[in-house]
Amino acid sequence: MGSVGGLGGVGGRMRIIVQKFGGTSVSTAERRARVADLVSGAAKQGLTPVVVVSAMGRGGDPYATDTLVSLARGVHAETAPRELDLLMSCGEIISAVIMVNTLREHGLEAMAMTGGQAGIVTDLAFTQANIVRMDTDHLLRHLREGKVVVVAGFQGRTDSGDITTLGRGGSDTTAAALGAALDAELIEIFTDVEGVLTADPRLVPDARTLSVVGYDEVAQMAHLGAKVIHPAAVEIAMSKGVPIRVRSTFSDSPGTLIVGSAGAGKPWTSTGLGPPVTAVTHIPAVSLVRVEVGEDDGGEAELRIFDLLARAGVSVDLINVSPGVKSFIVKTEELPQARAAIGQAGYAPVTRDNCAKVSVVGSGMRGVPGVMANVVKALKRAGVPILQTSDSHVTISCLIPMEGLERAVRALHEQFGLAGEDGPRKD
Ligand code: ASP
Ligand code: MG
Repeated sequence: MGSVGGLGGVGGRMRIIVQKFGGTSVSTAERRARVADLVSGAAKQGLTPVVVVSAMGRGGDPYATDTLVSLARGVHAETAPRELDLLMSCGEIISAVIMVNTLREHGLEAMAMTGGQAGIVTDLAFTQANIVRMDTDHLLRHLREGKVVVVAGFQGRTDSGDITTLGRGGSDTTAAALGAALDAELIEIFTDVEGVLTADPRLVPDARTLSVVGYDEVAQMAHLGAKVIHPAAVEIAMSKGVPIRVRSTFSDSPGTLIVGSAGAGKPWTSTGLGPPVTAVTHIPAVSLVRVEVGEDDGGEAELRIFDLLARAGVSVDLINVSPGVKSFIVKTEELPQARAAIGQAGYAPVTRDNCAKVSVVGSGMRGVPGVMANVVKALKRAGVPILQTSDSHVTISCLIPMEGLERAVRALHEQFGLAGEDGPRKD
């Protein structure tokens, strides 16, 4: 039809699909061949695939991100963030080149691009850069010529041309940013699990794969410890309403579709009926910090404490401020910095190590009474004490001793009927 869209669309408009493959999906020749089949499968359906890859393998494998980081650490105590980004970006670039060769072997015309070449422009926050703009003209030109472009995940470039990275796990963010900018029909996140699960299957053997889930729920789950997808990726896709499918590279099962709540097939969220909880998540290795500041001094104490913590780059959570006592949790690995900052503010904190944060997440809990009562019942039954809590309209989180983590997650999963076909939730 001589249309401007080139390949991939009958009427000329390209129907773009972003297919992102995690490190384990591209770690061996056999797995890369499977990836090539998935990419050509999409092309055969008339879609224009844009492939995003993570660095190959896991820590210990030669070109995995953790390996590159420990390479630098093993030689010098410090690597500046700018150079660390330059180094870390190589893992994904290597992966993109190898993947292009694999696709060519499978008869596809393919081309590799760094994140910057694909048009991802970021600010200067090395190691945690934020995307400020997408300049996808160059990428689009090559897509229109019928090429499969393989983009190195996890990275962008600044306006001045420096290479940046998007924070650990940032290849998902790359996929979502491309999906949103290119108006993709779908973003597929291929991984080594079956999809978004109701709990971590290492703790809960009968955890179930959710068939459909809302963006807001998955974003909360990711923030509250679920590892399956980067929360920023969900938020970016949500902002443009591009659906995400999380699925396994190694099976043909459909995985989990992430869409807006209205389309999530959950009429009970508006009626208040149906199960309030969708999943149980957890974050291990956190520490409770409690600072007694004595008499109320009009807010001066918390001002100093939280300001010094912020300057030390310590992120706080489960915050509870009342006159005389300020308490919160920090990652256990950041406890030394937190102690130093509080010391600087003139206080001696009391801390409790070996804690974990367990959370129940579900958009069905909005305004529904009895969710907390069930959380308390489950944890009581499991013999796990609650040290502190926090909540939002779709989450309830409890701080518990680390020793009770597995029992707590299992009990909550059971209490809210999340396992198997017989649970109240039918997707
Ligand atoms: N390779 C990067 C990391 O390990 C990015 C990613 O895999 O998403 O954090
Ligand atoms: Mg990941």
